[in-house]
Amino acid sequence: MTLFDHPDFDHHEQVVFGCDEASGLRAIVAIHNTHRGPSLGGLRIFPYASEEQALTDVLRLSRGMTYKSALAGLDLGGGKAVIIADPKRDKTPALLEAMGRLVDSLGGRYITAEDSGSSEEDMQIIAGTTRHVGGLCREGDHSGDPSPFTAWGVFHALRCAVYHGLERDDLRGLRVAIQGVGNVGAHLAHHLHDAGARLVLTDIDTQAADRLARELDAQVVAPDAIFDADVDVFAPCAMGAVLDASVAERLKARVIAGAANNQLATPGIGQRLQERGILYAPDYVANAGGVIEIAWQRREDYSRDKVMAHIAGIAQTLDEIFVRARQERRTPAEVADRIAEERFAAHRRHAA
Ligand code: NAD
Repeated sequence: MTLFDHPDFDHHEQVVFGCDEASGLRAIVAIHNTHRGPSLGGLRIFPYASEEQALTDVLRLSRGMTYKSALAGLDLGGGKAVIIADPKRDKTPALLEAMGRLVDSLGGRYITAEDSGSSEEDMQIIAGTTRHVGGLCREGDHSGDPSPFTAWGVFHALRCAVYHGLERDDLRGLRVAIQGVGNVGAHLAHHLHDAGARLVLTDIDTQAADRLARELDAQVVAPDAIFDADVDVFAPCAMGAVLDASVAERLKARVIAGAANNQLATPGIGQRLQERGILYAPDYVANAGGVIEIAWQRREDYSRDKVMAHIAGIAQTLDEIFVRARQERRTPAEVADRIAEERFAAHRRHAA
């Protein structure tokens, strides 16, 4: 396995392999780009089948964070870390402390945070060996859980996409299908319900879907039936790669806006959605609320109102993306990437 000719290597500035024999730590940190500021990205703990798989994941995810932070208007770059381990079995304080030392050795060029397999409690332990940790609980007005912030951003993204895709700015009576009613999906469902939308919900955890449906007077369908639901908007809030060739043909919705990462199974799906007249809100723009909040935690002037206002600004970014996509006859996903690249290239010019 080599790095520089790896298919997912994209001029990453630094890729560090870390090992600690005593705790069993085997980790990779990838710093994709620091033109706009120190790289920020979560720590994923996952029992990867191979080192190759872990490297692929960390290279892709760290690149994605550069784009997300640039479009969220943050002075941050993109990074990510992975630990090759089973979080249920192998996660020990010693392992997390060793990870903290690895993060610390990068001198602040990489700031870690929660991701799948790592929790807020884990971040507290890591904070014992490095100060370069985001997403810690702040006393007072912050719980440490990013999902309410992510959901608030998705709600604004969805409203903007509905305005552009369906030419309406009132959500009353809008039919929205939500796939996955976990942390983000459930918060989003509440916002939409409060705005007067009619919801169709699904989750592989049928009890969770039923409970929420009772509360919000929503309809529940089986997981596979969500793609055929007769709705205006599809909000993917479960897992990645959900928009594949078959789903792109089945959807009745005219707008897609949700929280899941990497929703397009391949870049070509974005094109197909466009051909079918379905407006897609690029996932990393819509779901940036969590990272925006983490970035604000680093500031002295943190306030919940300022954070929420910044997150609501996701709608303006999307507005620019949709307008340019129409003018340039590109997909919103292509335009989002292009704007992000312009932003981090411009920062480098300023720094030079
Ligand atoms: P979560 O695990 O709390 O919720 C996901 C839900 O989806 C679960 O209830 C799960 O049972 C359900 N699910 C899984 N597979 C499904 C399927 N095939 N059909 C229907 N339901 C299914 O996760 P979350 O924190 O709510 O995040 C949701 C998505 O948003 C993830 O893709 C995550 O990567 C992304 N995301 C989350 C945040 C955040 O702040 N939590 C930020 C950015 C992106």
